[in-house]
Amino acid sequence: MSNSVFNRFKDRLGEVIDVQAAIAVLHWDEEVYMPSKAGEGRGRQLATLSALAHRMFTSPDMGGMVEELLGHADSLDPDQRKLVEETWYDYQRAVRLPDTFVERFAEECSRSYHAWVTARKESNFSLFQPCLETMVELLREKAEYLGYEGSPYNALLEEFERGMRMEELSTLFFSLAPRLIALARRISAADPPDTRWLDQSWDEQSQWNFSLNVLTDMGYDFEAGRQDRSVHPFTTNFDLYDVRITTRIDPRDLFSGLMGSIHEGGHALYEQGFLEKDRRTLLAQAPSLGIHESQSRFWENIIGRSLPFWQHYLPELKKQYPGQLDSITPEQVHRAINRVRPSLIRVEADECTYNLHIMLRFEIEVALIEGAIYVEDVPALWNAKMKQYLGVDVPEDRLGCLQDIHWAHGAMGYFPTYALGNLYAAQLHEKMLQDMPEFWNHIEQGDFSPARQWLRGQVHQVGRRQTASAIIEAATGAKPSAEPFLRYLCGKYSALYGLKNVDMMSSKD
Ligand code: ZN
Repeated sequence: MSNSVFNRFKDRLGEVIDVQAAIAVLHWDEEVYMPSKAGEGRGRQLATLSALAHRMFTSPDMGGMVEELLGHADSLDPDQRKLVEETWYDYQRAVRLPDTFVERFAEECSRSYHAWVTARKESNFSLFQPCLETMVELLREKAEYLGYEGSPYNALLEEFERGMRMEELSTLFFSLAPRLIALARRISAADPPDTRWLDQSWDEQSQWNFSLNVLTDMGYDFEAGRQDRSVHPFTTNFDLYDVRITTRIDPRDLFSGLMGSIHEGGHALYEQGFLEKDRRTLLAQAPSLGIHESQSRFWENIIGRSLPFWQHYLPELKKQYPGQLDSITPEQVHRAINRVRPSLIRVEADECTYNLHIMLRFEIEVALIEGAIYVEDVPALWNAKMKQYLGVDVPEDRLGCLQDIHWAHGAMGYFPTYALGNLYAAQLHEKMLQDMPEFWNHIEQGDFSPARQWLRGQVHQVGRRQTASAIIEAATGAKPSAEPFLRYLCGKYSALYGLKNVDMMSSKD
């Protein structure tokens, strides 16, 4: 009996996933090709399809099938059972939010986004403040609908980093912050690398061609994906055999486009690495944004900003730019792309200071959701924390609390996943080195397959069968921790900046 119910359930779920894929295609087109006058029509099409997908997924029929299957879970094989349980998890979260709330939230997000665009342009927080106040109210309401233990922030965090708790993150960040601040100060006191050679114009087509070569070497399958240009780089997935990425090319910046490609390529390798048998199910998904981000940051930062990578690729880059890089060594590239400089903007931050940008946002979000501060306090608090953590003065809100889109989109609990991605990546990498002592020799040869295969087995093929934390523990033998990341930073920057006696493991200084 339950086998025929299971097949019917799987077909219905597959239909929801097909509609979601169609929505993703429309979003991709909107970012990449859509003409400027098409916005309103596209908005309508997306709203119709989103409502349709939601209706299909939350139908009583779907709920009934899943409940029936859960009642006969013993007769299902482990994968079938997991799929049913994961669907039940998503179903429960989806039906807890009343339709009227979902609609109100979507409308407010749209209003708030437009207010944020104007406020940012004019660098005037007060234009965004009323919308952010409404948004915080709605998010607190959302937390009540979804339910939580401890802080209401946990209900929001769950959406992006399932199983993670605010209390756990606080402990993690609390131990990390003073050590990152101390390292950034040591580096600031050292001589900065000479990067004047980068101040040239870099042909866009050559940048593009070079990025395609690197992506091919990483193992990104261009017969099951493509790269295009967009304002904000992203990865999107319509199917196991259609995972697309975008990047942006800046003729004044030799590396930002390439690093964008490698970053998105890391996300895409993950999605091209799900199991064939999980196709068109919820199991062909990442269990959290943090684990997804660990893949992009592994490829971008740990591989793409390493010396062996540039020992391999600099000769090829020189061929793309005859006469422009003749005297440059791999060591010079390595130093230039790892320059540490406390700055105002998160997306431009280096590996050392990046997580400090996240902690500041996390602390403010938690305080807002818990009602410990008012929205009007945000700019002053932001600026004080920037001074405390990074030692920089924020001249205007455009370069401070108005720089990110996330809050305008109603996403709180999202930022911490970026920091977790950095920590997970370093922890996976440390274990990879133990398993493969020849690791860096492979990278110096331009052979990325050992790294890719390792990640495929330990992370990609797991799909959504385990939480991020369980994946890390199974792959490395230890719970998620900040220590491997600190060891990684310490090793990297001590060598790059000639720092002596850096003790990242103690939090004394
Ligand atoms: Zn990313």
